[in-house]
Amino acid sequence: MEYDFIIMGSGFGGSVSALRLVRKGYKVLVVEQGRRFTENDFPKRNWNLKKWLWVPGLRFYGFFRIALFRHITVLAGTGVGGGSLVYANTLPVPKTDFFKTGSWKNLMDWEKELAPYYKIASDMLGVAQNPKFGPGDYALGQLADLIGKKDQFSATHVAVFFGEPEVKVADPYFNGSGPEREGCRFCGGCMVGCRYNAKNTLDKNYLYMAEKEGVTVMASSRVISVIPMGKHGNQGYDIIIRRTGGFRTIKLHTRAFIFSGGVLGSVPLLLKLKKTTLPDLSDLIGAHVRTNNEALIGVVSSDKTKKFSEGIAIGSIVNTDEFSHLEPVRYPSGSGFWRLLMAPMISGKTLIGRILRILGDLMLHPVANAKVYFTRNWADRTQILLFMQTRDSTLNLKRGLFGVRTGVEQGSAPSAFIPEAQDLARKYAGIINGKPLVLPTESLFGIPTTAHILGGACMGDSRETGVINSDHRVFGYENLYVIDGSAISANPGVNPSLTITALAERAADRIAAKMKKQEPAKEIKQ
Ligand SMILES: Cc1cc2nc3c(=O)[nH]c(=O)nc-3n(C[C@H](O)[C@H](O)[C@H](O)COP(=O)(O)OP(=O)(O)OC[C@H]3O[C@@H](n4cnc5c(N)ncnc54)[C@H](O)[C@@H]3O)c2cc1C
Ligand code: SF4
Repeated sequence: MEYDFIIMGSGFGGSVSALRLVRKGYKVLVVEQGRRFTENDFPKRNWNLKKWLWVPGLRFYGFFRIALFRHITVLAGTGVGGGSLVYANTLPVPKTDFFKTGSWKNLMDWEKELAPYYKIASDMLGVAQNPKFGPGDYALGQLADLIGKKDQFSATHVAVFFGEPEVKVADPYFNGSGPEREGCRFCGGCMVGCRYNAKNTLDKNYLYMAEKEGVTVMASSRVISVIPMGKHGNQGYDIIIRRTGGFRTIKLHTRAFIFSGGVLGSVPLLLKLKKTTLPDLSDLIGAHVRTNNEALIGVVSSDKTKKFSEGIAIGSIVNTDEFSHLEPVRYPSGSGFWRLLMAPMISGKTLIGRILRILGDLMLHPVANAKVYFTRNWADRTQILLFMQTRDSTLNLKRGLFGVRTGVEQGSAPSAFIPEAQDLARKYAGIINGKPLVLPTESLFGIPTTAHILGGACMGDSRETGVINSDHRVFGYENLYVIDGSAISANPGVNPSLTITALAERAADRIAAKMKKQEPAKEIKQ
């Protein structure tokens, strides 16, 4: 079988590319390692690990992946629809700094260039402002007041359909050619998969339309190799695909190939291919990996009169200073898995010092600690605070003995102990009568957690300064592209999916429509 484009991964980059390229007349195949999900496939609670987590080694084929590295713990999505299945729908546009820093800064005026594509991306993803706050959002409003940032507090812009709950309506977004939808129930379940057909995941917009218009999606299948044909791929590529959880491989031929596997998919494969079939790739693969300089802190409240699981996953936001902002994040009632992985929020330079501080906290506050670990419904009592900054600190990804490993690239590694984040968490805890907790990887080992891993195949003006050019074409090869979060070339400091979508819209716009084969000229009889 021969394709014009094979796309690896069905997340934001892959889904946008699929729709735009099929509309340009190309024959497109999307290969996705995760499975397909319908509303009924999502778990009711995140205790159902087999349905929730992606750990193929244990035959857990859920949609949420946790990857542990030396310097960072990465959270990501897997499945038909990629990260949109698990994400919290929040879609802000980054501030001006993002467009003027990083390895792409001299390539063009990105803020101006991307403005129309942000508009298209917002329309396609159905972005709307959250109309209803939960208790956690009201508490954030109080915090904003307390720190003198009331004017910086607002409802989030999210990809959710706010129609009538429990009422099925014809497609409200694409003149009736999209799927039927139902209104949001504000159940807080967006990150465990929306069971009510209200979240605008990619399989309800870009990917839905792409499949309807002729794109084939091969689910539960993993791209394991890309072999160039002719000189630097000028005759296309052979793509080797393996069934997820199996051993059998197949080989397909394509004229062009797009890496859209997200940072955890595209960058490790590019690193492997540089050592094998694509040696002329830039040496900068794996460089400039960013984390949005992020902190995730759970605050468990002892106030039983409020249900912190109510609302959408992220309903509000406050800019706490020029570089930073804070969002309260929630899980739905009953989804209390994270309680097993919580430790007191402390800070400290050495492991011994941190262990002593954790023990000290447990001994000095036994009742408060017992309350948070044994509280009846963890999700009803908890608000996770997501703190992000535009300040830069970059890592790199390299191939090691046991797969891919991280290294510190410039400055210091991203830290689990951001003083501003911890200070805000303590103030928020004061408001909701709660206790701040973090993952033990943070408290014990100082390794921060991110849901926004970006970069690793960044833009530049040559193979010496980047992996791809401003049109997302890979230096050193023909008809090879990277269109996903790995192409993000500066620190957005905000949730990145709208930016990935806008960049993918632009990248696909830069690819010419397929030339129709010329009909042989008819003989004209004299
Ligand atoms: C819990 C959580 C909450 C989040 N909330 C938000 C939010 O509110 N707002 C926001 O903007 N962002 C959010 N994000 C981040 C967002 O999900 C990602 O930034 C985004 O999905 C990245 O898009 P992408 O196109 O790079 O790839 P992804 O969406 O990650 O998709 C890549 C796809 O490629 C597949 N793949 C990888 N390798 C292969 C291979 N070899 N063969 C075949 N398929 C492969 C993967 O299975 C995956 O489905 C959140 C993430 C998490 C984990
Ligand atoms: S709050 Fe509930 S109904 Fe609304 S989008 Fe999220 S999961 Fe779906």
